[in-house]
Amino acid sequence: MVNRSRLTSWLMHLKGRRGKQIINHTVKMFRFHMTPFSQLLSRILETLDEYDAKFTFPLVAATAQSNPSLVEWLGSFPHEIAIHGYKHIKYSLLSLDQQVFEFKKAIRIFKELKIPYQGFRAPYNAYSESTIELVEKFGFKWDGGIGYRLEYRYGQEFFKVKLRNGKKSSYTCIPLCEWSDDRMIDKYRLSWKKMAKILIFHLEKARKVNGLVMYDLHPIRIGQREYIRSLSELLLHARNIGAWIPTVSEAVDCWSKDQRWKGDAPVCCLLTGDIDNFTFFDYMRRT
Ligand SMILES: [Zn+2]
Repeated sequence: MVNRSRLTSWLMHLKGRRGKQIINHTVKMFRFHMTPFSQLLSRILETLDEYDAKFTFPLVAATAQSNPSLVEWLGSFPHEIAIHGYKHIKYSLLSLDQQVFEFKKAIRIFKELKIPYQGFRAPYNAYSESTIELVEKFGFKWDGGIGYRLEYRYGQEFFKVKLRNGKKSSYTCIPLCEWSDDRMIDKYRLSWKKMAKILIFHLEKARKVNGLVMYDLHPIRIGQREYIRSLSELLLHARNIGAWIPTVSEAVDCWSKDQRWKGDAPVCCLLTGDIDNFTFFDYMRRT
């Protein structure tokens, strides 16, 4: 009986903590969404322009559908938009049929909105074995989320993933740096200075092997006034060492053609940032 009551109280403690986390996260998102999304994007685009850097935006299709003119505006810049699912849900918890539905619906919306796409990243970087097969089936050029798996995230080069038939994927996978902005901001509450330090550290690590690093910097966070400087500090450093900062598709094309970076750059820096919602209302609907 003693054990049971301990267990019960532990579960209640966990439940309370989880509830608190959700509330904290919601309050934070409310604060972040006080700045209109177009303003966050403008801030990022201006910073990128200053350093002649490219960015890849994995975008949730249902979100794209909610504001087509904002997407059209974003698409008019020389950056890349990739598919980040139809809705922001965990594919690893869905059946094969449900996943097929999500893929098809996302692709249909991207086509209807005339958004060119070549890459895919599953919401939450959560893949089941079926998801890995479906990225192949739907003919994507690259995947930006499988590389978050523990066995890949510390890598510094493109890789192919093994499919059920024993063959390697035709699409290219990219290791995804574990230091995402949500980890640095939501979990560790780091300042922009510390964030810049971490980002630069990982760029330097990849440079040592003439490799690549891919970051996940969500516009909702990195576009905020208090964090944008972590991006500009990274870009300043990248420019000083002659890093190449293309879209993911440009990097994949260049590497598969020449097995080296454009202009023999010492390192390839891939900036990606998922767009899950445009407004706090969208965020709440999802929650
Ligand atoms: Zn996401």
